[in-house]
Amino acid sequence: MPIKFPQPHCNSYYTATANEIPDYPLLKGAQSCDVCIVGGGFTGISSALHLAERGYNVNVIEANRIAWGATGRSGGQLIGGISGEQRLKKFQDKDISDLIWKMRWAGHEIIRGWVEKYNINCDLKFGYMDVGIKPRHLRSLQAEYEVLQQHNFPYEFRLVDSSEMKDILGTSAYSSGLINMGNGHLHPLNLCLGEAKAASQLGVNIFEQSSVLRIEHGVKPKVHTENGVIESDFVILAGNAYHSLERRHLGGIVFPAGSFIIASEPLSDELAHEINPLELAVCDPNYVLDYFRFSADKRMLFGGRCNYSGREPLSIQKTMLPRMIKIFPQLKNVKIDYEWGGKIGIVINRIPHIGRIEKNIFYAQGYSGHGVNVTHLAGQILADAISGTYERFDVFEKVKHYRLPGSQWIGNQLVALGMIYFRLMDLR
Ligand SMILES: Cc1cc2nc3c(=O)[nH]c(=O)nc-3n(C[C@H](O)[C@H](O)[C@H](O)COP(=O)(O)OP(=O)(O)OC[C@H]3O[C@@H](n4cnc5c(N)ncnc54)[C@H](O)[C@@H]3O)c2cc1C
Repeated sequence: MPIKFPQPHCNSYYTATANEIPDYPLLKGAQSCDVCIVGGGFTGISSALHLAERGYNVNVIEANRIAWGATGRSGGQLIGGISGEQRLKKFQDKDISDLIWKMRWAGHEIIRGWVEKYNINCDLKFGYMDVGIKPRHLRSLQAEYEVLQQHNFPYEFRLVDSSEMKDILGTSAYSSGLINMGNGHLHPLNLCLGEAKAASQLGVNIFEQSSVLRIEHGVKPKVHTENGVIESDFVILAGNAYHSLERRHLGGIVFPAGSFIIASEPLSDELAHEINPLELAVCDPNYVLDYFRFSADKRMLFGGRCNYSGREPLSIQKTMLPRMIKIFPQLKNVKIDYEWGGKIGIVINRIPHIGRIEKNIFYAQGYSGHGVNVTHLAGQILADAISGTYERFDVFEKVKHYRLPGSQWIGNQLVALGMIYFRLMDLR
């Protein structure tokens, strides 16, 4: 059965604990502004807030509700780095290591700054660990440790060996780890809703339940919905894995991969302390990875990337529960209160797809599962470009992205095959 739009927020732990979900109006009639943004997730809202802070007159058009897509469903892990950053360097004609190092953490600084400046209550908590399973994982954690050391990374970081691991996590699944107190976790729906509120207070017009049907190119592009049209100097496309606009330019580059999360009932203090006493967000090193953390009320939010077909499993709980219990057998009797999933935008070379279709039509998408931080950077990069500064924008625009031929369906089947390859890589 075809999915009906507009849709409400999915039934998740985040929706159940949202601070307030204001209703923004539908777009009706003709309007004009400096910048019109399509999509109200982190990319769209952070672009809007960056631009509004610089005095631009901005409109945001969202097909469903603010943060309805990946943003309001994510694991909420605030992880440094840009997906595909080593490959990103290969497309440049000079050494951009310093610029990349700064970009790795720019999203964190933006989020820290906005949470404080706009008083956004989103359970922001610092503390994160990459874990290793095999000796080769330890080697890559050591390499990352050295990079942090070389740059005098200002937050605490340290390697954890197998003998110490049992004091950090209540599992024998991992043999090494790298704790990084500059990374962390947060309630992504509340962060995005708070940013949208701040943008709205700075004069950004937000429209919900208004799906963009087409974009008319020109000196002043026009963005059309069923009931309205917005003319602007610039357009930003921020629909990520959920949009199908501008296929001639963007088709076959970003593929929707399903990622799924279960949220347990709140754990007792004893059990929470046994499992994750430092309340770290944790990611394993696999391509097909597991990630987990506690919510503010000490639920286990356990997520995994389950498929590259973009389709939901029949039961998210049945798929995710065995993975969680394998790592934490102590959780076998806890009740699962919520389950949900969303679409991650995957790019074949994993480098975020940031560029423009015309001089005045920009896009940012395809963070390959690494978006909480990088969407905030992308919003800043697009605001820079619209204000006439292209240094960081050019770094991404130079990238040659692979384009899979054929329909979205064929493309996704090819990515699904790629997934089997990655699963085999994980077993090495
Ligand atoms: C289950 C899950 C867990 C994740 N966990 C993490 C994590 O722990 N850490 C991390 O860094 N990243 C994580 N990610 C990835 C991260 O959430 C995304 O990279 C990020 O939220 C992308 O934001 P976005 O605004 O680009 O896209 P989205 O949040 O998907 O927003 C796109 C919006 O565009 C709207 N839209 C689409 N088409 C149209 C149209 N035609 N007209 C108007 N509006 C339109 C959609 O309705 C949607 O609201 C996760 C993703 C998922 C799905």
